[in-house]
Amino acid sequence: MQKISKIAVLTSGGDAPGMNPCIRAVVRTAIYNGLHVAGVRQGYQGLIDNNMYDMDPRSVSNILNLGGTILKTARCLPFRTEEGMETAYQNLKANGIDGLVVIGGDGTFTGALRFSKKYPDIAVIGVPGTIDNDLYGSTYTLGFDTATNTVIEAIDKIRDTADAHDRLFFIEVMGRDSGAIALRAGISCGAEAILLPERDTAIDTLIENLKAGQYNKKSSSIVIVAEGDKRGAYDLAEAVRKQIKFYDIKVTILGHLQRGGSPSAFDRILGSRLGFAAVNALIKGETQKMVGLEANHIKLTDLEEALTQHQFKLEDDLMQMADILSI
Ligand code: ATP
Repeated sequence: MQKISKIAVLTSGGDAPGMNPCIRAVVRTAIYNGLHVAGVRQGYQGLIDNNMYDMDPRSVSNILNLGGTILKTARCLPFRTEEGMETAYQNLKANGIDGLVVIGGDGTFTGALRFSKKYPDIAVIGVPGTIDNDLYGSTYTLGFDTATNTVIEAIDKIRDTADAHDRLFFIEVMGRDSGAIALRAGISCGAEAILLPERDTAIDTLIENLKAGQYNKKSSSIVIVAEGDKRGAYDLAEAVRKQIKFYDIKVTILGHLQRGGSPSAFDRILGSRLGFAAVNALIKGETQKMVGLEANHIKLTDLEEALTQHQFKLEDDLMQMADILSI
């Protein structure tokens, strides 16, 4: 079993609220256990540029409440090349690092697994940090809860103005491949329709639903569109506008505000638990694993499995319930 003496931690891919509580947990758990810790700036780019610094417990003071990531994040093309990986490896060795915690989504894990297979003397543990909630091996990913709450707050406000003016709003939320945010926000805000990348909703069905709503005396309607819906909120609104005249139709794209903000209690606790578990896994000699939360217990999943089983959970039961509750 490989004994770890110094670890590095980085955040990579899209930022997600909860990454900071996770960094804090990684740093303090490592130091508590007598390990040294380096923080890597800007994800894999920082490994290639040797942009890392030694961290102590005070380096992560007062960050639990901060959105984003104090280590910064990046999408790094050079890390996809053999040369980039070799440079990253040499820099890690030069800094005496033998364990790596990567916080990110499936792209981050793909890079981590490739790297770890090539250089097995650096142990690697992944922490699922993405607002999309689309990773196998963890019921929840870091940032999903906060992002969903942010979306709900925004949609509640839009509902106020929609209702005042008898309007129909198409609201686009994040989720290129995953409708997780759209579905939760749709249930929470009583959306009249929820369009997900995992489910094909014909435009005629949507129009029938909206007409039924008007027949049932609804004074406003909200259609939530996950960005992964190929038709896009503007084109959908245009198609509906041709057939529905009783509503004034508007479109709102929520965009990047969904990524920011102070992490929710759930994400602070999840980040703390996953960061704590990631370091303990490294200490136990684990590598090429992802730490996740299943049935409120920490679970380790092989990175290989987390990536190949990568699934977009189509939650039919929740979708059916949402349809019924919005009549
Ligand atoms: P999110 O789910 O928020 O988009 P992500 O981790 O999936 O997060 P990506 O941009 O897909 O975000 O990946 C993050 C980084 O991981 C990339 O910028 C790149 O540096 C690295 N990466 C992705 N795929 C590979 C690969 N096949 N080989 C090496 N590195 C990779």
